[in-house]
Amino acid sequence: MSEPQNTELLGLCLQELTDVVDRLGEAPYRARQLFDGLYRQRWSGWEDFTTLPMGLRRKLNESGFAIGPPHIEKKFVSSDGTVRYLLGFADGQSVETVWMPEGDGGEAGDGSQSGDEELEDKKGRQRATICISSQVGCAVDCAFCMTALLGLRRNLTAGEIVGQVLAVLSDQQVDLERYRLNLVFMGQGEPFLNYGNFMRAVRLLVEGVGISESRMTVSTSGIVPRIADFGAEAVRAKLAVSLNAPSEELRTRIMPITKKWTIEKLMAALREFPLRNRERLTFEYVLLGGINDDVQHAREVVDLIRGLRAKVNLIALNPGPEIPFAMPSDERVLAFQSVLTRAGIPAFIRRPRGRDIYAACGQLKHTTELVQLNP
Ligand code: SAH
Ligand code: SF4
Repeated sequence: MSEPQNTELLGLCLQELTDVVDRLGEAPYRARQLFDGLYRQRWSGWEDFTTLPMGLRRKLNESGFAIGPPHIEKKFVSSDGTVRYLLGFADGQSVETVWMPEGDGGEAGDGSQSGDEELEDKKGRQRATICISSQVGCAVDCAFCMTALLGLRRNLTAGEIVGQVLAVLSDQQVDLERYRLNLVFMGQGEPFLNYGNFMRAVRLLVEGVGISESRMTVSTSGIVPRIADFGAEAVRAKLAVSLNAPSEELRTRIMPITKKWTIEKLMAALREFPLRNRERLTFEYVLLGGINDDVQHAREVVDLIRGLRAKVNLIALNPGPEIPFAMPSDERVLAFQSVLTRAGIPAFIRRPRGRDIYAACGQLKHTTELVQLNP
């Protein structure tokens, strides 16, 4: 038997697990048990896999297969209940994943609610959101984002992306039946620059873990060719786009990727994007004090996105060391929002979560590299 290169089981789909057990001379139903154990039961050690005979567990282990969930290296708890996890992988790399017990007020994105702050939904289930990383670091280099300072270290595998969700759900002892859980791919990295692994992770989260894709949102800085690919996927998350500026000149200044994929190309791709019934696009707009937060900018945003079924999430800059921008004043944030809502565009102010532990949007870097952090 030739050993597979990637010996971690987490990240393999049912068919691939079937091939694994087949090569070990076992019946196909063992693959289903393995699949359920890995993703549904969130088992992380061979001793947990009581559905499999000892002999098979030993055979898998001896053939070089590991289960492969990330381990919790560090955990910071914010005064608002947000928890930032530093999760480590086998090669020593790590990423950050954030647990937000009450959602963040803007993650719904489906138009069915107004970014409300209810702690429970109508069925009495608790709300929570997990913010997932897709890469270690990021190559996109947005001027306001701390992750950019890391540069791109490497892509995450599908197993490492799914593993973040499993590790957090286990640590928080979440029973998915009793939670209305949202997943946002808004942690470290640009998901559309790790497209294959990201999409594989989405499918495993749906089929394996049992989280509906309608509860997932992916945010992209605007990797235009992948937007069309994503629209054509049979199973996909909802789409959010980090707009952050309405003009070519300003956006290029704060998001240099605009040189490669212009706002015009981005908007053309979004106008073609096949939205589902009741689905809306989300535009994210980080307000940088005195830079892109003028009512005139808001009017330009209205002109730009008019005609699209979309909502806008406004995020006041989350400050951090080495971020050369200031927070906008509350008045400017409200004035900006009101230009949008008066033009008929739903606009929500995203509540910053876990700022005190550097867990908010754009602050995910690397715990041990943060200065002045006192857990
Ligand atoms: N790379 C993807 C997803 C991760 S970033 C993207 O850029 O869309 C998730 C969100 O955080 C983006 O909307 C980004 O604009 C925002 N963000 C980045 N840095 C921020 C900061 N310092 N304060 C507030 N939001 C920030
Ligand atoms: Fe990367 Fe998103 Fe940060 Fe830009 S905002 S550097 S795309 S993680």
